[in-house]
Amino acid sequence: MDNRSYIWRGVDAIKERFTDLSDRVWGTPEVCYTEARSCAEHLAELRHQGFRITEKVAGIPTAVMGEWGEGGPVIAFLGEYDALPGLSQADVAEPRPLQAGGHGHGCGHNLLGSAALLAATAVKDWLATHNVPGRVRYYGCPAEEGGAAKAFMVRSGAFDDVAVAITWHPSSFWEVVVTPSLANTRADFAFTGRTSHAAASPHLGRSALDAVELMNVGVNYMREHMPSDARIHYAVLDTGGIAPNVVQAHARVRYSIRARDLPGMNELVQRVHKVAQGAALMTETKVEMRIISAVSNVLANTPLEQALHRVMEELGPPHFDEADKDFATKIRATLTDKDIATVYHTIGMDPTDRPLADFLVPLDARRNPLIGSTDVGDVSWVVPTVQVHAPTIAIGTPLHTWQVVAQGKSPAAHKAMVQAAKAMAGLGVRALTEPDLIAAAKADLEKRTARTPYVSPLPDDVAPPLDMSLA
Ligand SMILES: [Zn+2]
Repeated sequence: MDNRSYIWRGVDAIKERFTDLSDRVWGTPEVCYTEARSCAEHLAELRHQGFRITEKVAGIPTAVMGEWGEGGPVIAFLGEYDALPGLSQADVAEPRPLQAGGHGHGCGHNLLGSAALLAATAVKDWLATHNVPGRVRYYGCPAEEGGAAKAFMVRSGAFDDVAVAITWHPSSFWEVVVTPSLANTRADFAFTGRTSHAAASPHLGRSALDAVELMNVGVNYMREHMPSDARIHYAVLDTGGIAPNVVQAHARVRYSIRARDLPGMNELVQRVHKVAQGAALMTETKVEMRIISAVSNVLANTPLEQALHRVMEELGPPHFDEADKDFATKIRATLTDKDIATVYHTIGMDPTDRPLADFLVPLDARRNPLIGSTDVGDVSWVVPTVQVHAPTIAIGTPLHTWQVVAQGKSPAAHKAMVQAAKAMAGLGVRALTEPDLIAAAKADLEKRTARTPYVSPLPDDVAPPLDMSLA
């Protein structure tokens, strides 16, 4: 039996433990650095499987790492298990929160972590029966949504000796991820002024809220002169109080600043900072900028993408049955034609009536990506990295919606999660048995970073924002 068939049978032999794990994590949705139960579930499975365990990676209580094997290259599988606030939802095809205001797995990370751990376990079992030097690692990474845990883990050196990193994400499609992502910094701008009676002594007051408003206006004017793929959004966290007749002595605004690459983002952060300083000057207030978190753009890796595409071709998409398609059709009925067309547009296809993806998207499809950000980016700057998309949701389902939560423990999602694990494990075994693949992946990364070496977008004195739940 060849290595890939062997490992795919291995995945099938143990998959129930991991679909069960995914369902338990779905049932305990926890957000941004508060994933105590979800992390404990992954830790317990790592222990059960005999991995050597490192807890609190990079000092983060909900980050964990498991390793198995001796010598040889290190193959890493990256998992996530954080949920999103406000998306509590039952597993039915209509909006029905399980708990008013509760959290929910609106990005499918319950599946993400469990399938990555399934792939790591299958590779461990393969290593145990084949006499090949090599180590497999599972990284349990919290707080992907807004917390940038992987960027902190990279900064701590947790990936320094890794040869190849493999991960995946739930999606409408079955494909190798070749879409770029944006570098993204979250920064708070806190203004301090002087309070006074707004009617009796307005001349004595200096309004921090005015400064926030002027900063936002300034940044909105700046948009005309930014690269067209840069993105800036803001939220006012502190308006300085609720009384209009008291001049606001403090106010705070949070910015998310995104650009195509790391140097472009750093330049944009400096420009936004200048606008903030201008607002402070105009209002005679003081401003302090504080970086909360930051992630880099994802670097592509052509040799790994081609090797993964070959594995996914051999493997084929998940086999969905009529019941899977029926449920997906019900979900599809809750989406707009625009939702569906937008998702098809990302792979350059006209919409079809298929409820679930049963085809492999060509590597060279004419894509029109919807570009977000992910902390996988930082890993990709220091380790050759590649990602799978597997069809866990009805085609057209937008991420971060109740419909994703509703499909998060469906039989179709389980099938797609297992298929993702097979693709990742198949590539992992290729990397362990084909030293040329690792060498080519490394050379590709070196070429991409030759002119702009990786510098963490996180200043040295910024610690993971553990105290800051998104809730
Ligand atoms: Zn996600």
